[in-house]
Amino acid sequence: MTNIINGKEIAARVREELKEEIRSLKEKRGVVPGLSVILVGNNPASKVYVRNKGKASEEVGINSAQYDLPEHTTENELLKLVDKLNKANDVSGILVQLPLPVHIDEEKVLEAILPAKDVDGFHPYNVGRLMIGAPTLQPCTPYGVMRLLDSTGVDLSGKNAVVVGRSNIVGKPMAMMLLKRNATVTICHSRTKDLVEKIRSAEVLVAAIGRAKFVKGDWVREGAIVIDVGMNKDENGKLCGDVDFEKAAEKASFITPVPGGVGPMTIAMLLKNTVEAARKTAGL
Ligand code: NDP
Repeated sequence: MTNIINGKEIAARVREELKEEIRSLKEKRGVVPGLSVILVGNNPASKVYVRNKGKASEEVGINSAQYDLPEHTTENELLKLVDKLNKANDVSGILVQLPLPVHIDEEKVLEAILPAKDVDGFHPYNVGRLMIGAPTLQPCTPYGVMRLLDSTGVDLSGKNAVVVGRSNIVGKPMAMMLLKRNATVTICHSRTKDLVEKIRSAEVLVAAIGRAKFVKGDWVREGAIVIDVGMNKDENGKLCGDVDFEKAAEKASFITPVPGGVGPMTIAMLLKNTVEAARKTAGL
């Protein structure tokens, strides 16, 4: 029987746990986690993401601040703001919403964020720590996927895990997290040969490709755990994942739906990172 992994429910649980933790941090230690989100320009999708992040923060008791900067903001102006927030004691986490306008060097800005406040987990220092298996702030989407995998109760040790996608925000950190749990990890991408065979070998499959229903049901190994990170529109304009859910669900032991799988976890883990950053800064 296939189990549908309910990301909405698990994310709600994470937020409830955080609410409790924040309440206790405030009462017992006088620590109030603070998240500053910077948005440059008018990208409509980014505006929605930023608004949702602010709302979710407030709901669990995180102090949130939003900085809306105009499209023509210079790199220097943005770096100055990041520097100011780096130095602010009431700011535990800083998030610069991507993509940035083309005249701003994204890498330079991300590297300017203090690693201890890098709640997206994109700073090379944190990426390096993830690579060596040291505790660190971890990129939110794969961090959320690990939580979903944990909810299955399946031990990942020794499992064949296949990650399709090698982006810096999903595929690569995902592979590192699975490796840390002793899975045998294969990373696939657009140049991978015999992709279908590799996917068929997966006891744990993570699809982070960005192509609607790319992974067909008969590519899925019997009993596999299937995690679908993809967020795409199907031929009718409806939100769908990278996996043909209906067919894949006939083979998988556990599978995430889209929507309602990985999506809700990303913001929940951002909040978790903010609380972790606040704890660390307070020496707790
Ligand atoms: P990117 O476009 O950065 O990366 C996509 C990856 O898929 C690349 O590594 C690419 O390979 C690989 N790929 C593309 N086509 C193929 C193919 N035909 N065969 C094998 N591999 C292929 O995307 P992201 O990692 O940022 O995101 C992936 C998906 O996850 C998107 O749908 C995105 O919207 C979604 N997403 C969802 C989030 C959530 O919160 N639920 C958060 C972040 C992303 P190559 O490197 O060779 O080009």
